[in-house]
This record gives sequence, structure tokens and C-alpha cells, in this order.
Amino acid sequence: MKALAKLKPEPGLWMQTAPVPEIGPDDVLIRIRKTGICGTDIHIWDWDDWAKKTVPVPLITGHEFAGEIVEIGHHVEGLELGQRCSGEGHLIGKMSRQSRSGRFHLDPATRGIGVNEQGAFAEYLRLPAFNVVPLPDDIPDEIGAILDPLGNAVHTALSFDLLGEDVLVTGAGPIGIMAAAVARHAGARHVVITDVNPDRLRLAAEVSDVVPVNVADTDLTDVQHQLGLVEGFDVGLEMSGNARAFDQMVGSMVMGGRIAMLGIPPGKSPVDWSAIVFKALTIKGVYGREIFETWYKMIAMLQNGLDVSKVITHRFPVDEFEAGFAAMKSGASGKVILDWG
Ligand code: NAD
Ligand code: ZN
Repeated sequence: MKALAKLKPEPGLWMQTAPVPEIGPDDVLIRIRKTGICGTDIHIWDWDDWAKKTVPVPLITGHEFAGEIVEIGHHVEGLELGQRCSGEGHLIGKMSRQSRSGRFHLDPATRGIGVNEQGAFAEYLRLPAFNVVPLPDDIPDEIGAILDPLGNAVHTALSFDLLGEDVLVTGAGPIGIMAAAVARHAGARHVVITDVNPDRLRLAAEVSDVVPVNVADTDLTDVQHQLGLVEGFDVGLEMSGNARAFDQMVGSMVMGGRIAMLGIPPGKSPVDWSAIVFKALTIKGVYGREIFETWYKMIAMLQNGLDVSKVITHRFPVDEFEAGFAAMKSGASGKVILDWG
């Protein structure tokens, strides 16, 4: 089969021919139809410090996918050949306290497909049946291929009550844009999204009804006052990993405000703790998405009018993967989809 893999410990990914994976009794084999390129895949392509210490070589990369079940292990029940599906890319352990308490997404022994284990950038993927998420007919494959990052957005956005709240999202990358759309869908009053990249802010406003603010040339406090938010934002969703964006968020929150942080700051970043203490802010770190509560919630929201389809800005046949990665790196894209036929 065709597979896009890290074959050498240096920047790049290479198309190779690999054997179709053999499945075990608890697995299924998925014929991949569409995959999404993630920021993580860019780190792996670039072979940065994180990738060097995390990713074994050789490895088939990719973890955002949709496809169809073409083989089923003999222990597996409840799934059928031909079932369209996406799936959770975190392969969890069963022995940790968190797993045994049902908080599967917090299992410290988690391994990721396309990061630690063979991934989804291939014609076929082996996946434990436990990880499979069937796709309803009204969710197309390309949306199925972005459920992983939509799950990050949904899990982060639903950390706190949003109904009637004023929400600030910092960072209009694909996940921030989708989180803003979720906040809008979940009944927030004002949803303000910041970035320093005008292309991304334009895209955010196309995807949902939000107030885009370019903090490189616009004072966020002015926007806040124009909206009548005298005391600040009730809920903050940090989606940039940028230390200045976080400081700005802390400065813009209401007393007792709540912040969910998905963005990953590079290394140790200085934090103004006294501002957090005196404002009595609650800050929640967010990892991944809930397995499987977030999957149920996001599929339900998609079936109930949440529309994030415009966040997909580029589509390429997989043989043009280099153009796909270039689009991702350009900063002018939302989600980029590779088509596996
Ligand atoms: P992205 O890099 O595409 O988007 C980040 C955006 O932040 C960019 O558009 C950038 O221009 C913007 N930004 C930079 N400086 C800013 C500033 N001062 N103010 C406002 N915005 C600013 O990332 P993404 O793929 O959308 O992911 C969002 C974040 O979530 C990333 O940090 C990513 O590493 C992280 N992430 C975390 C998890 C997790 O489990 N915690 C999972 C997935 C992604
Ligand atoms: Zn991803």
C-alpha cells in the first residue's frame, strides 16, 4: 500500500510502499479515504526537537482520518464491513488509575497513531475496534477527517458554561476558529477571536459569526468597550500557545473568569501570577479530547447545525502531499485535506 512516512531522521516525509497491516483479534482494518494535516504533522515534517525525541524512525505519520472498515478481528462485535468511520488516535492503556476511572483521555500510558505507532497517512490503517467512531451518513468523509481537531476545539470550548457568556478566543488557527464556532453554537453572547494573521481572522469570520480582532494593529480593550463588556470576558479559550496572547487574555477577563488552555507555549513562559490571583481566575489545562464523550457531543452538534466545513480551505490528492504541507505552512490555510481515493 501507499504510505506517507518519516523514513530518515531529517526534515521531510516520503511516499513509500508498505505492507498492508495485519490486524489482531481486537482490531479492525480501515481503508483510508481522507486525512487531515495537523500542526503535529508539521512538527514531524520539520523534525524539530519535540519530534526528534518523540517519533521513532521509520514511522507512517498522520492521525486525522476518515475511511471504511474492510476487515474485522474475530473478537470484535458491533461493527460491520463497509461501515464508514473516523476514530480516536490515542491508544490508551487499561491499567492506570485514570483509565480505570473511565477518564481514558488522561491515561499517562497513551500512545498516539502517527506519533508513536504506525499512523493514518496510508491506504490502510490498523486500529483497535475500541477506538473506532462510526460516521453517520450525513457527516461526509472530509468532516470525518477533521473530527480529531474539532474534538480539541469542542472539549476546550465546553470546559465551562457558555450560554449567555462573553467569550474570548486567542489564536485563529484551525482549532481556535472551530472553538469560536462551537462557542457561538453553544449560545455565547459575544465571541471575540484574536490573531496577528489577517488571513486567519478573515477565515474565522467566514466560518462563524464572530468578532475578529487583529491584535497587531487593534487595541482589544477598545473592541471590548465597543461591545459594552465593561468588566471583561467571562470565558477565555487560549488557542495560540503564545505567551503574549495569554497575558492579554488574563488582562481582559472579568473578575472570577474562567480560562481553558489548549495552546502549548514553547518551553517555560513567564506568567503574571499575581494578576491571576487578584482576578481570582480559574485556569484549566486541556489535553486532547474526552474519549469518547467529546466524540458523541461533536457528532450531535454537527447534526444539530454546527457547521465548520469552511475551515477546510485546501484539498489535494495524496500524491500532491508536498503542496498540501506547503499550504499548511503558508499560514494562509485552515484545514488541509489529503484524498486517498
Ligand atoms: P496554529 O498554530 O495553526 O494556530 C495558532 C494561531 O495563533 C496562529 O494563527 C497564530 O498566528 C496565532 N497567534 C500568534 N500570536 C498570537 C497572539 N499574540 N495573539 C493571538 N493569536 C496569536 O495552531 P492550531 O493547530 O489551531 O492549534 C492551536 C494550539 O493548540 C497550538 O498551540 C497547538 O499546539 C495546540 N494543541 C494542543 C493540543 C492539546 O492536547 N493540548 C492538541 C492540539 C493542538
Ligand atoms: Zn491533530
